[in-house]
Amino acid sequence: MSKHLEASVDPITEDDDFIARALEELSPPALIMSIVHMTGNTDLLKSNLRPRVMDVVEASTQTEPLEDGSLTLAQGAEIRAHALEAIRTYRERGCELPTLSEETINEMLDFMSGQHIEGDYREFIKEEIAIDAVDHRAVEFDNAKLKARAANFPVVIIGAGMGGLLAAIRLDEAGIPCTVIEKNPAIGGTWYENRYPGCRVDVQGHSYSYSFEPNHDWSSHYPKAREIHDYYEHCADEYKVRDKIRFNTEVESAVYDDTRKRWTVTVVDAQGRREQLEAGAVISAVGQLNRPKLPAIEGLNDFSGRVIHSGAWPKDCDLSGKRVAVIGCGASALQIIPEMAKAGSPLLVFQRSPAWMFPNLEYHSPVTEAQRWALKKLPYYSKWYRFWLFYTATEGVFAKTQVDPAWNSPLSVSASNDDMRIVLTEWIKSQVDDPELIAKVLPDYPPFGKRILQDNGCYLQALQQDNVDLITDGIEKVATNGIVTSDVKLYEVDAIVCATGFHADRFLFPMKITGRKGIDLNDQWQGNNGRAYLGITVPNFPNLFCIYGPNTNLVVAGSIAHNAESQVNYILRSFKLLFETGKDAMDCRQDVHDDYNERVDAANEGAAWGWPGVNSWYKNEQGRITANLPFRIIDYWRMTKQPNPADYHFY
Ligand code: NAP
Repeated sequence: MSKHLEASVDPITEDDDFIARALEELSPPALIMSIVHMTGNTDLLKSNLRPRVMDVVEASTQTEPLEDGSLTLAQGAEIRAHALEAIRTYRERGCELPTLSEETINEMLDFMSGQHIEGDYREFIKEEIAIDAVDHRAVEFDNAKLKARAANFPVVIIGAGMGGLLAAIRLDEAGIPCTVIEKNPAIGGTWYENRYPGCRVDVQGHSYSYSFEPNHDWSSHYPKAREIHDYYEHCADEYKVRDKIRFNTEVESAVYDDTRKRWTVTVVDAQGRREQLEAGAVISAVGQLNRPKLPAIEGLNDFSGRVIHSGAWPKDCDLSGKRVAVIGCGASALQIIPEMAKAGSPLLVFQRSPAWMFPNLEYHSPVTEAQRWALKKLPYYSKWYRFWLFYTATEGVFAKTQVDPAWNSPLSVSASNDDMRIVLTEWIKSQVDDPELIAKVLPDYPPFGKRILQDNGCYLQALQQDNVDLITDGIEKVATNGIVTSDVKLYEVDAIVCATGFHADRFLFPMKITGRKGIDLNDQWQGNNGRAYLGITVPNFPNLFCIYGPNTNLVVAGSIAHNAESQVNYILRSFKLLFETGKDAMDCRQDVHDDYNERVDAANEGAAWGWPGVNSWYKNEQGRITANLPFRIIDYWRMTKQPNPADYHFY
């Protein structure tokens, strides 16, 4: 069990001046909640200092400056005055906290969210922020029989990224032995592999961590890859699972034995040595974005300079003084380009489609000393801050992604989606004067058709630097000394950076997974059409579970860290169910799986990312969305809370 769930914080010893200065930099919504915890007084919850979730569309209509939570500057000042008083009193009485009733906590939830939250939605939120300091997502076996079964149920986990590490921690807590097979020499998965210049997460760090292991030391609000990698390294040590991980080792195949009801997993180490591991269950945590995809462009293999994929950036890579081409304008490219442009060397950006970008001036901002002080020392501030980030993300813009069948435009999918398009268009236009450049960088597809990227203005600024050129003519081929476009123009370069994405539609690729009666998973999925029930379990593949499997990627509305916790919760509870039934294996019923997938497909087609004219890594070559979860995160949390025995065959 985590040591970090309690809201007990370091005592406040700082003087009033320090505190008053620190308060200027804090989030007012979380601050109000902390005041209630310190004072036990709920008067503020009846005041007009109520925060409100506001998306970029509504924010664009505001005429006066607002603080976090859409509060006016005067309201912010009032909250800070209350906070200073509350903190002083709290400090002077030795940092003792009053106990708040359940009713008060519920009142606080309603106040902060601006609506009456009830039923399991309350549970969902309280679980996410562990307000009662209880780790509700941990699964423990409460009797000797279950414990004995658990101890004799070895599990192989494939991948030691966010999902695999989480599974290892939870299995260990539950007393289930596991071995984690990791192809890299370190923990972190994507956050180990992606080391290109400028790589950072585009979800707020304070909600991009395990719920049971919050991190109050992020150096910026959207942390860089190296720091996220370090966080996972820390978690492996903190939860003592490092010795379960076999590094530099890949899973080659996994075969289910119908008679013995066990898996045989063949692994290969860096020296090419093969070994077979026996497992009661296999958990795949290989992610959707871990096999770099080079573009199928004629001549790329014969290019005489260096070809680098964003997802496999070489450690020794020094491109200073070189003429570099970047192919792609997706999430990776938009981080690489501003960073590389700083060097001043010629940079040629080859864009096939431009990206929509959310204005976010905080995107590269550091977490200040004052903010870190509050996260560590103000009672419950970190928990409510996490809730605020989580809630504004989950409730933020989901409605604007949904297709209105009566709406008729190639540029948007509904009236509210069009409102978003207008605001995002204005954001682009506000940064560029040249009409030719505007025409090039303005997307001609609906917002949310592809992933919308976070932007603080540095990308378009980079494109307008003298050393940077944006080329939108199609790439015809790669010559030995450069890139040739459709107008037969040669752009000579020394290196090509392919920020061209991953084999996202090849789930569990390139492993060979064989289930019941010799069925090959790749055949069942027709190569690139992965489907699973809840994105987790697959008919004919007993005791095979996926984390971040087919149709589990979130486009908006929540963090993938939360989804991973939902999936691991479901997997652990499936093991418990299995042990309780006395059976050895379970696989999903085909009809349950098919029915779920029909709902997934219909919902995805009704979302902007399912829009027929737009291609993205969310879709396979046939145009089916294989990556995305189309449901709200609360609905997915409900679906994955507890497995239903009726959904499964048991063996
Ligand atoms: P991506 O978003 O799929 O972008 C690939 C880019 O390459 C697109 O602009 C694509 O153009 C272009 N492209 C592909 N093949 C091409 C070709 N043959 N010729 C010309 N252009 C070509 O890939 P990514 O940037 O690696 O990002 C993938 C996902 O990883 C993201 O959506 C995100 O989920 C994750 N990611 C997250 C972060 C973060 O948190 N900050 C950072 C990086 C990645 P088209 O659009 O025209 O296909």
